[in-house]
Amino acid sequence: MSRYRLQPTPAQEAALLEHCGHARFVWNLSVEQHEHWKPGRKSAPGFAEQCRQLTEARAENEWLRAGSIIVQQQALKDFAQAMSNFFAGTHRRPSWRKRGQGEGFRIVAVKPGDVRRLSRNVGEIKIPKVGLVRFRWSRAVPQGVKSFRITRDRAGRWHVAFAAVPEPIPASGTGETVGVDRGVAVSAALSTGQMLNVPGLRDSEKARLLRLLRKLARAERGSNRRGKVKAAIARLKARETDRRKDWVEKISTGLARRFDVIAVEDLKISGMTRSARGTIAEPGRNVRQKAGLNRGILTAGWGRLVERLEHKAPGRIVKINPAYTSQRCSACGVVDRKARESQADFRCRSCGYACNADVNAARNIAHAAGHAVSARGGTPLRGPVNREPQRDLLLVR
Ligand SMILES: [Zn+2]
Repeated sequence: MSRYRLQPTPAQEAALLEHCGHARFVWNLSVEQHEHWKPGRKSAPGFAEQCRQLTEARAENEWLRAGSIIVQQQALKDFAQAMSNFFAGTHRRPSWRKRGQGEGFRIVAVKPGDVRRLSRNVGEIKIPKVGLVRFRWSRAVPQGVKSFRITRDRAGRWHVAFAAVPEPIPASGTGETVGVDRGVAVSAALSTGQMLNVPGLRDSEKARLLRLLRKLARAERGSNRRGKVKAAIARLKARETDRRKDWVEKISTGLARRFDVIAVEDLKISGMTRSARGTIAEPGRNVRQKAGLNRGILTAGWGRLVERLEHKAPGRIVKINPAYTSQRCSACGVVDRKARESQADFRCRSCGYACNADVNAARNIAHAAGHAVSARGGTPLRGPVNREPQRDLLLVR
């Protein structure tokens, strides 16, 4: 992940906050427009129409005009992207942004000289209407940066993230297909039997978080102490998020390198069939547990993993309809609702095959990808990036 710690001066920080405020204002306006919409009404304005409205609003409002048009337009674009993610079922509906929470903005049309290195550990970046802001050059900055995003986390730390779609990783050439399933007991299970867990907080950190939460409950509203405790909690949570993001990068690189074809469930379908409240198609999946510990990777994290896989292994990702993947025996193919002995164990009552339930599901996903490939009579390497899901492959007839 190319994210770097920004080191603004106090004056620059004030200017950055102004940009954040503008981005938030424009975003919230979009939320309002879309919330107003109801079935039967004329559709809510799209990106192009909103850009036109923004031009009007800037003409009328001095304070908005004083801000950067790039920041404001990109907030509209982010919102449009968020809506399409929502319709794709990978993300929740975009909601109101509050001051101090997930603040940030995006800058595009970055020129070659806008990012430069000052010394071994210090870099400098040009931000419109803010000037040259220093950042910690903690690793190589990707070549040909076209855009970047500035964020402020809840602990008050500023970061810059350069948008660079990672270079595709060459396939291993072994012809191997791997199935990856969102686990219930683990974060992700591979058809190879490997189980992967997203790192969270260590036990000592969890204990510390618990202590801080108790302290927070006792601290008086608006007090100095409360502010300090809140910041400490935010730092711990930010650490957890960082680890999760690093994990996604590592796992996606590893999978792209080791396997030729990577099969995952189709999020568009699973968004409908596998809601957090459980499903008709898969009543066996324990929902309570999903809603708890693993939630991070199961929602945004999972979408991110698939997204990074698509960047790193373009054309090698096959998306599978997840229906029955958890109830079908990956050895004999029989669908058996009662084969799940417990959360973690799968035992086929037809052939006796026993396996970790998540691994069994991952194997079914890999099998389905095999079908998807041979049914089209071509190698997946030459196939389209976004393959049509093979809807009926896993259905019992
Ligand atoms: Zn079986």
